[in-house]
Amino acid sequence: METTPEIKSIYSFPLQELTLELEKRGEKSYRANQIFEWLYVKKAKSWEEMTNLSKELRSELSAHFFLSLPKIFHKEESKDGTIKLLLEMEDGAKVETVLMRYDYGNAICVSSEVGCSMGCAFCASGLLKKERGLTAGEMVGQVLLMDEILESELERVSHVVVMGTGEPFDNYDEVMKFISIINENKGLAIGARHITVSTCGLPDGIRKYAHSGLQINLAISLHAPNDEIRAKLMPIARKYPLSELMDAIREYLEVSGRRVTYEYIMLKGINDSLDCAHELVSLIKGTFGYVNLIPFNPVKEKPFVRAERKNVEKFRDYLNDHGVKCTIRKEFGTDIDAACGQLRVKVERGAKK
Ligand code: SAH
Repeated sequence: METTPEIKSIYSFPLQELTLELEKRGEKSYRANQIFEWLYVKKAKSWEEMTNLSKELRSELSAHFFLSLPKIFHKEESKDGTIKLLLEMEDGAKVETVLMRYDYGNAICVSSEVGCSMGCAFCASGLLKKERGLTAGEMVGQVLLMDEILESELERVSHVVVMGTGEPFDNYDEVMKFISIINENKGLAIGARHITVSTCGLPDGIRKYAHSGLQINLAISLHAPNDEIRAKLMPIARKYPLSELMDAIREYLEVSGRRVTYEYIMLKGINDSLDCAHELVSLIKGTFGYVNLIPFNPVKEKPFVRAERKNVEKFRDYLNDHGVKCTIRKEFGTDIDAACGQLRVKVERGAKK
């Protein structure tokens, strides 16, 4: 019985996989390099543009692969230059992506799933449950669309953080393909040290990542110095206590030789005391990790209040004085619903009313 060949986005293929696809079709492997150059260096929008490929190959490719980017459904731009896009995928699913402008470059915060099932108490993304993981191509599309916007300024995306909606280690394989595609020298060539994956702390994912040999950065959403507070904020902490999470992080450190960044949202009256800072030091000291304190981005539907600036600074100073390197994260686009998932919730809920 004949089956219909699966049509996939061409943007979902790492160079090695694309090479195999072409070899399968009797083509020379260097064709994959040429296609990568068209897609990621010359930013071709159609197969016709790829003039160094034969007409036959172009028509073969167009029969088997999509060459289209997500649609921009909604765009917001903040006074500080932060850009937030709500993108619509082929099946109508909507995801957010944010561009932040740092002194050192243009960083994009990529979503890895449509909605999120982790249910963190402070996060807007989880207000809409996970529908599916994004494909590598849909994540690549987020970067390419921001590149298109930046082109008029003669700029490009230089840094990628997988910190948008979704849990990247819940969509491990596609996220790894995505990283391979954007890191590829013959393509976008975004350096491994310029790419960060952020996880709520899935120990199996951390171990797998440790053994992947990738030199990209890993961030852990810790948010609490003990299981009691963490379990109130993050349901995943009930499944994996801190002892298990810290074991996985130590393994990562040993295998990869790389330090993690701990993310810690400062919530008033919940995790912002100096007692918490003291506990945090004993929890993470041996892991040589670096702490990034995140000012809570208020979410209308959530009861939390951001910690006072002076307490955040005291917390930071305590950590630095006790041998744990700590900084306070710079804020972007607070005037445009830049917190994870906020724009999508606003648009989707608004549309349903
Ligand atoms: N699931 C992954 C990545 C997505 S969340 C993770 O948990 O790390 C990316 C980061 O944004 C996490 O550290 C998350 O805890 C944080 N975050 C979520 N909602 C926030 C809010 N309202 N204000 C500030 N940070 C928030």
